[in-house]
Amino acid sequence: MALYSAAAAVLEGLERGDGGIKTLVYNSRFPHVRQLYALVAETLRYSPVLEKLLAGAALLQAEKKLPPQLAKVLVYDLLFGKGLKCGGRWKALARRHRARLEAELARLKVQQKVSRNEDLLAPAQAASPGASQVPRYVRVNTLKTCVDDVIDFFKRQGYSYLGEAASVEELRALSGKKFLLDLHLPELLVFPPQTDFHDNLLYTSGHIILQDKASCLPAFLLSPAAGSHVIDACAAPGNKTSHLAALLKNKGQIFAFDVDTKRLATMNTMLMRAGVTGFQLAQQDFLTVDPRDPKYSRVTHLLLDPSCSGSGMVTRVPGEEAAPSPERLQALAGFQRRVLSHALSFPALRRLVYSTCSLHREENEDVVHAVLQEQGSAFRLVNAFPSWPCRGLAAFPGAECCLRASPADTLTHGFFVAVLERCREGAAAPSILPVAAEENPQRREGTEPGAAPKKRKRKKQRVKE
Ligand code: SAM
Repeated sequence: MALYSAAAAVLEGLERGDGGIKTLVYNSRFPHVRQLYALVAETLRYSPVLEKLLAGAALLQAEKKLPPQLAKVLVYDLLFGKGLKCGGRWKALARRHRARLEAELARLKVQQKVSRNEDLLAPAQAASPGASQVPRYVRVNTLKTCVDDVIDFFKRQGYSYLGEAASVEELRALSGKKFLLDLHLPELLVFPPQTDFHDNLLYTSGHIILQDKASCLPAFLLSPAAGSHVIDACAAPGNKTSHLAALLKNKGQIFAFDVDTKRLATMNTMLMRAGVTGFQLAQQDFLTVDPRDPKYSRVTHLLLDPSCSGSGMVTRVPGEEAAPSPERLQALAGFQRRVLSHALSFPALRRLVYSTCSLHREENEDVVHAVLQEQGSAFRLVNAFPSWPCRGLAAFPGAECCLRASPADTLTHGFFVAVLERCREGAAAPSILPVAAEENPQRREGTEPGAAPKKRKRKKQRVKE
């Protein structure tokens, strides 16, 4: 199904109450879920404005066969989005009405005494998507290419490369066709917000992954050495799994689990495209995976990114669930505690990263605290990424070892990360104190990821244009 028809179908589903935006987008089977999600989210955000434009230009009266939701999507993209890059016969139809729609838009701006499109939105709609300020982050897939080659590629496409950023403010100031290397993560390029690479050759060929910076933290901080056995417990749609595979250099073994068939299908396609090998994908409730199964006897690293309220996702739009009820939050936190406890029961486990895209302390610091207490002195919290500016809420002594991320502070989606490590046998360590030493052979003493700049390894494989 084409993008515009898929977006219109999601909008219709939302109106009928068939589900939330994420569910409907995933269920649509449209291959580029993020592109579809972004289009639906933005169309919804502009919905009141679009309704005025459609009425003012009498578009639905003139085009009786045009379904109203499809009309909204087309007019959104024509006037506020990418200017109708696809759409076939619908594109031609919308373009026939372009002059009238543009005149209506101008009239609306005069009427509301504003000059920018954004100013037409009600304050809540204008304020809600911090998404419009979050840059486009591009993770270079080092299984297929290297940072230098990707930089060259974008330069050849007319982008100006400004070098490595020195501050978050530099990222915030990005505009036009300019890009930077991120200051925190070594394989991350940063472009201005709204830059869309979903149709870019590098994306469609799996050379780059479009992934928010905060969501790159878990794999980066887990940092398994090549050859390790790793579990990704709640893995779909698999961005973090592909990041883990890149860090492992496809050497070792990833056991990835998820309960959702559709998300697993998307994940399988994504991992193939990203050139990931050496993974076993299972549709299984992670809570039923037996830690004593000899298959997992060499699992030393585990990434746990369980279902959460998603309250940190800044593309929240009308039609999505509002703040979770206390009951839902309690249920989520209960699941998160159970799954974290279960994850820590793998016998050879040395290091675990727990992450959510939730802002709620109940799903974050409180979960980590409760499980650490239950573990006694078996595991402790690592002082993760000391140079990261935004720390865990002071919910318990040592909670500042955790990381938080937000559009305002780190120019990312809202996120939470905690890194746990098994205490060395015989070392009577309190459960929450940071550790400095690292037994991972990939890192030297004191080189916790994020503690010091890493030298980048540049692979030689060239990207064909
Ligand atoms: N880590 C993923 C990524 O980076 O692409 C995102 C994971 S998403 C936040 C949470 C996932 O957990 C969902 O895909 C959901 O289907 C899955 N999930 C929920 N309960 C689960 C369970 N008991 N066992 C395994 N997966 C589960």
